[in-house]
Amino acid sequence: MVESVDILSKLRKLVGNRLRIDEPLSRHTSLRIGGPASYFLELRNIEQLTNVIEFSQRENLDFFILGEGTNVLFPDKGFSGLVIQLKGEFEKFSIEGNQVTAGAGVKLNNLVEKLGKKGLSGLEFASGIPGSVGGAIVTNAGTKMGWIGDVVREIKIFHEGKVKILKKEETNFSYRYCDLPDKAIVLEVKLGLKNGKKSDIMNEIKESLKQRKRNQPLSTRNAGCVFRNPEKYEAGKLIEVAGLKGTRFGNAEISKKHANFIINCGKARAEDVCNLIEKIRQTIKEKFDIDLELELKIVKG
Ligand SMILES: Cc1cc2nc3c(=O)[nH]c(=O)nc-3n(C[C@H](O)[C@H](O)[C@H](O)COP(=O)(O)OP(=O)(O)OC[C@H]3O[C@@H](n4cnc5c(N)ncnc54)[C@H](O)[C@@H]3O)c2cc1C
Repeated sequence: MVESVDILSKLRKLVGNRLRIDEPLSRHTSLRIGGPASYFLELRNIEQLTNVIEFSQRENLDFFILGEGTNVLFPDKGFSGLVIQLKGEFEKFSIEGNQVTAGAGVKLNNLVEKLGKKGLSGLEFASGIPGSVGGAIVTNAGTKMGWIGDVVREIKIFHEGKVKILKKEETNFSYRYCDLPDKAIVLEVKLGLKNGKKSDIMNEIKESLKQRKRNQPLSTRNAGCVFRNPEKYEAGKLIEVAGLKGTRFGNAEISKKHANFIINCGKARAEDVCNLIEKIRQTIKEKFDIDLELELKIVKG
């Protein structure tokens, strides 16, 4: 990597005082964990994004696209590179008939509610899933009732210096996975919905939020489910049956309400969360001979 003083002055020239240095990532993640990002930028349109990505590639500067930070764990030492959030133009959406075009920075929950109020059905399953539309596409966010890939018509991405459109047929969605090209940045999506009865949709949204409140530790700092459900089992049930609820490392704890959630009870460190993850994996392997896989994205520094 080029000298960081050199990078800093060049980046400043490119983006001016919007650049944040040593920005604590704990401020940008739902777990409230993560050391500093060397550089942190909110980009507001495709032109800014193009310039910055070209710059980072030219200067060999690692970058990470952060949505709302509800499914990531950054290390305690932080991220030595550039963390980018998509704001401004990327936070807009429009509706035409039963198709919605939403920027990657749109908050999924807001979108679900706005569509419900317009009597557009198809995203009700996503009510209560925090995060951005971009994050939802990358993780194929969903529940037992459906996932976002079901309603995607096309995805606009930035890849290898160009804006490209991927049609639904060119993209494969599976459980918490979307096969986007490596390092692709989601810019915008088109979703196809159906006309429905406003009151039915809003009731479904309300019911699903109630159920989440009952089953998930929503008032805590967490990043949703830590592990993917293995075939035929629920990861949370396995962890519960293994007697691990309430187990702690430092200030990180396996939720007593939902065993697939790890919560930050105070000033938990990423290391504490990783220790808990290791403990869970080992215990589940020993007791049930099952290898749990992560749903949480652990970012390398
Ligand atoms: C209380 C709670 C409940 C949850 N319940 C659910 C649930 O029911 N179902 C479910 O699926 N998930 C759930 N989650 C997990 C999480 O909300 C989803 O995975 C969400 O879609 C992540 O979106 P995000 O914007 O926060 O992404 P982030 O956590 O910021 O990022 C996740 C990944 O997506 C990448 N990414 C984000 N935006 C872009 C972009 N524009 N272009 C390229 N890459 C990008 C990041 O680099 C990272 O690899 C829950 C989380 C919490 C805290």
